[in-house]
Amino acid sequence: MVGCGAIGITTAIEAQQAGFEVTIYAKAQLPQANSAFATGVWSPDSRIVAKAHGDALAPRWQQMARISFARYQALLGHSAKPVEWLPVYNLSSLPFDKANRHALPGEPDYPHWEAQLLNGLRPADQPLAPGASPFRQPHVRREQLLMFNLSQYGDWLLARFRAAGGRLLAAELSCEQDFARLGSQLVINCTGFGAKALLGDDALLPVRGQTCRLPPQLAVCYGIRDWDSGVSAYPRRDGVLVQTQAQGDFGAQHATVDLEESRQAVTQLAALMAGMRA
Ligand SMILES: Cc1cc2nc3c(=O)[nH]c(=O)nc-3n(C[C@H](O)[C@H](O)[C@H](O)COP(=O)(O)OP(=O)(O)OC[C@H]3O[C@@H](n4cnc5c(N)ncnc54)[C@H](O)[C@@H]3O)c2cc1C
Repeated sequence: MVGCGAIGITTAIEAQQAGFEVTIYAKAQLPQANSAFATGVWSPDSRIVAKAHGDALAPRWQQMARISFARYQALLGHSAKPVEWLPVYNLSSLPFDKANRHALPGEPDYPHWEAQLLNGLRPADQPLAPGASPFRQPHVRREQLLMFNLSQYGDWLLARFRAAGGRLLAAELSCEQDFARLGSQLVINCTGFGAKALLGDDALLPVRGQTCRLPPQLAVCYGIRDWDSGVSAYPRRDGVLVQTQAQGDFGAQHATVDLEESRQAVTQLAALMAGMRA
């Protein structure tokens, strides 16, 4: 296995269950891999493929998403709380069917597979009439999301992998031939965005985003998605996760942290909170 982000380690555990002895080779492993910096909500159709190329993938995606959902149900009662249900309030000045939460310049249309192919899997979204919630926005919708406490989830994955005899080795591959040099009978490539440089994968289009964490506030038991500013916040166990995006993020190849971007996102979050009715 090459890669020790969320996909690499999950695939490694699947391979172990299929009877393989697995060694993971990776430049960075959780919690240093990119996966550790994600927002951490179960959002299986988010930017997964452009609408124009979606049809061929749809049946397989539906099967994968259902398996994934079922697996996470089994983790809900775990004492370390790697996964939890979370009510999330979507806020918008426009009606939701006229707004687009992603909408970065240059982005293609995406298929809305969760609504079309997984209907009924998650509890239905609840529109709230103006004045029926403490938020000032004219359009408010409550949904129930599966949220990952990424530190706990990463620890749980690594512990499971190691308990089944898995080995983890630091290694950086620099070309296609390096896969053969590992000397394994079977190699699975889970290098994520790293595959673009490693294998010249031009079909992979990066979308940058930025997260920061405020100190945990265990009394906060809901998340927020502000469709107007694109800022969202989720009360994870490892801190209140604040996510934001900037204009040039679609196709951005870099992962540079822009502190000012997060400052603005936290300021926007504070303004939303200050605007709430008692
Ligand atoms: C701001 C932001 C928020 C996000 N929020 C969510 C969310 O809420 N929900 C969601 O489902 N997704 C979210 N995503 C997307 C999600 O983070 C990625 O899809 C996911 O982390 C990809 O996992 P991965 O294991 O494929 O890649 P990575 O985590 O990048 O892991 C790749 C692994 O391969 C290794 N590697 C790479 N190149 C080499 C090499 N040459 N040699 C050796 N090893 C190599 C790396 O070191 C690492 O171990 C978000 C992304 C961003 C940017």
